[in-house]
Amino acid sequence: MAPKVLVTRLLPPKTQARLLEQNFELIQWKENSSIPRDVLLEKIQGVDALFCLLTEKIDNELLDRAGPQLKVVATMSVGYDHINVDAVKSRNIKLGYTPDVLTDSTADLTVLLALGASRRIKECIQAAENGLWGKWGPTWLCGTQFTNKTLGVVGLGRIGEAVAKRLQAFGISRVIYSGRTKKSEQVEARLNAKYVPFDTLLTESDVIVVCCALTKETENLFDYKAFSKMKRTVVFVNSARGGIVLQDDLVRALEENLIGAVGLDVTTPEPLPPTHKLYSFPNCLILPHVGSATMETRENMANMTLENILAGLKEEKLPYSIY
Ligand code: NAP
Repeated sequence: MAPKVLVTRLLPPKTQARLLEQNFELIQWKENSSIPRDVLLEKIQGVDALFCLLTEKIDNELLDRAGPQLKVVATMSVGYDHINVDAVKSRNIKLGYTPDVLTDSTADLTVLLALGASRRIKECIQAAENGLWGKWGPTWLCGTQFTNKTLGVVGLGRIGEAVAKRLQAFGISRVIYSGRTKKSEQVEARLNAKYVPFDTLLTESDVIVVCCALTKETENLFDYKAFSKMKRTVVFVNSARGGIVLQDDLVRALEENLIGAVGLDVTTPEPLPPTHKLYSFPNCLILPHVGSATMETRENMANMTLENILAGLKEEKLPYSIY
């Protein structure tokens, strides 16, 4: 009997075509929205493999519903805070993800947010589009630049390093970072980066980029106390996960002018309702979680996820495995 595979979205065209060529029974959610939880819980029953996205919560309830034949879960993302990893592992289910392939696109977008926030791009676009473009003025819409500034990277992983490398090309002269572990001399030498305590990063950085995973330790890491310690001119960018920032505290910090400019690709919740207070700040630039959104990257991510599914069905080691 052909194995059953549940895919929770329509994939980018090349990988979708490849998916349709496979020799398995395909159950696929093809709507232009994420699969509702009740539908997911119904469709998961009896499947051998699950191809999911970060929009699906993979927990004990879902794994119980799936049944003991489930061999592999592969997420089309590098972040896996939506997955109860211990629950999956304890059932001997293989677990795959998509590291590396989205590093460049996400780092590009993080830099775009940093530059956009620091150069007041939201106000600039609004001024041009809304007839507020007056005569050229010496200080009108002036932002700040990165020349000789200090960059603080929270989580110097794949994306954090790629962001630091890119921002050095814009004049950043000092890179400091915080995280769970001090990186090897090799990594530090590549960026001339220095490991510092979190508080030092907060007080000494001109630009802060959040590139760490969302975990129990990093949840709400950026609260009012953290924002209060930052330079009043800081450019704060989060392209990792919304849950790392205590959003009400970010609103308060913006209201009290504790922060120079903010760039967010991730929020809580997602989508962030258009009436949310965060949109009202001219110095807060918000994008709808598009860090990895290039067609090249998305095809690669989908393809890697399919590779993981195929390996898992054959009971082979996954090529891109979380454990
Ligand atoms: P990675 O190479 O695994 O890097 C993750 C970093 O998080 C590591 O440096 C790790 O530090 C750090 N970290 C883990 N726990 C921490 C803690 N308690 N305190 C501080 N730092 C901690 O992953 P990546 O490929 O760079 O991706 C990073 C994150 O970006 C993903 O988890 C995902 O949530 C997010 N992301 C977002 C988008 C988007 O579309 N906006 C796209 C891709 C990824 P250690 O090295 O010390 O363990």
